[in-house]
Amino acid sequence: MTDAVSLIRAKRDGQRLADEDINWLFEAYARHEVADEQMSALLMAIYFRGLDPAELRTWTAAMIASGDRLDLSSVGRPTVDKHSTGGVGDKVSLILAPLVAACGAAVPQLSGRGLGHTGGTLDKLESIPGFRAGLTPDETLAVLASVGCVICAAGSGLAPADRRLYALRDVTGTVESIPLIASSIMSKKIAEGTSALVLDVKVGSGAFMTSYERARELAETMVALGEEHGVRTRALLTRMDVPLGRAVGNAVEVEESVQALQGHGPDDLMEVTLALARQMLALAGIAGDAAADPVAAIADGRALAAYRAMVRAQGGDPDAALPQAAHTQVWPAPASGWLTSLDALAVGIAAWRLGAGRARKEDDVSASAGIICLAKPGEAVQAGQPLLELRADEPERFGPALAALEGAAAVSDHGPPPALSPVIEEVGPA
Ligand code: URA
Repeated sequence: MTDAVSLIRAKRDGQRLADEDINWLFEAYARHEVADEQMSALLMAIYFRGLDPAELRTWTAAMIASGDRLDLSSVGRPTVDKHSTGGVGDKVSLILAPLVAACGAAVPQLSGRGLGHTGGTLDKLESIPGFRAGLTPDETLAVLASVGCVICAAGSGLAPADRRLYALRDVTGTVESIPLIASSIMSKKIAEGTSALVLDVKVGSGAFMTSYERARELAETMVALGEEHGVRTRALLTRMDVPLGRAVGNAVEVEESVQALQGHGPDDLMEVTLALARQMLALAGIAGDAAADPVAAIADGRALAAYRAMVRAQGGDPDAALPQAAHTQVWPAPASGWLTSLDALAVGIAAWRLGAGRARKEDDVSASAGIICLAKPGEAVQAGQPLLELRADEPERFGPALAALEGAAAVSDHGPPPALSPVIEEVGPA
């Protein structure tokens, strides 16, 4: 028989937690016999001491066991999902899910909402009139079986322990711990029932992980956890120093996603999307099929058709006009020359201040607020030329957004800067 104080002391002093202790902890926490302040203290001890791979496996399994695990066996196609650690202008899921479905796999994308400067996939889709992100498990399965992809909110039954733990981490400075992040993300993805998973781990100023080393460690940790729980898992490390594509916000990102599905996506966005699609199709075991060429699925309209079918199946009208912001303002280039950088974090914070993101879980987001990047690094610009177009529902939002953009762009006489692929590398099982 153990108790919470002994576990906190053990971890505080650098000892490992036994499997039976971790299982006891989650069961007792679910019964409210371990207090939130005790769990918070343990999370802080883990923040400093970490969890070794065996502890992490058991910790994650206990989080999964705290709720339901979806059974996707009735879907009739190989299932494969993608998760992104979040970035500015990251609308990849909106393109990727229907694209991979059009190639023959089933994509059960159970997502969260955006918090802070990175947007949430559900917030973007909800800018489409009528679109419903809150589906029952039966509705989720029905859309997945009929369309081949579904993007909806993860129900409260999936890894409920994560919701409670995340709320504690958020207010105790313990979010930034690799084992806690990895177990949080992977418990939800494993509980979702997918057979395979590709992780897009973003690196750079606008990402959760700003250093390559931390991003690589997170990717390796999550890949190992997925594989240990029977989910074929790979990760791609991708750059997040500049916004992905040109649109940052909700409706504006839906618009850019539709253009991408029509074959007119910006190069960086398409490179990341196609790299992830190829990984997903390989993990689903259908990469060699004639129908499984993602470039062809965009060119012949199948991916767009799958997107439209998904939107319709979730109550949305893919032909409806998207909300437009009442006010716009441009932000000019600071000098003439080559645009060498456009800071993703600054643009993300500006879009958030314009109303596209939320500061607290309960906040609403504006469908129409956002930013359009009129130029991207690598392009030549003239001093005073509009670099960004800011959109907002209320004009008083421009001041704080413009303040966030102070120093966000760098222009150089020497150029053009070297073109770096947005895809850095693949991370597979050790
Ligand atoms: N996203 C999650 O779902 N959990 C974390 O801990 C961090 C990001």
